[in-house]
Amino acid sequence: MSAVIYIDPEAIHPVIDGEWHRTRLTGVPTPGQGITMLCGATASAAFLPLNQRRDHGVPTACPLCDSIYRRERGIPQQHTRQAR
Ligand SMILES: [Zn+2]
Repeated sequence: MSAVIYIDPEAIHPVIDGEWHRTRLTGVPTPGQGITMLCGATASAAFLPLNQRRDHGVPTACPLCDSIYRRERGIPQQHTRQAR
């Protein structure tokens, strides 16, 4: 029997070298599975408890993933919003 842990793929924001990215995952990746970010970066999936996310500093958002994500959803780009 399995103890199933349900994870929302929409909530998966993989961190690579202190930057968090967005992906188009439709399911939960298996450990070691290669995943591609919106910006094109690729890495193999690894899982850790959320409370370890800031162990090496607070991850910053990947600007390219953010830009692509906003464009796809019609959300104003950050630099547009901040323009005065
Ligand atoms: Zn990215």
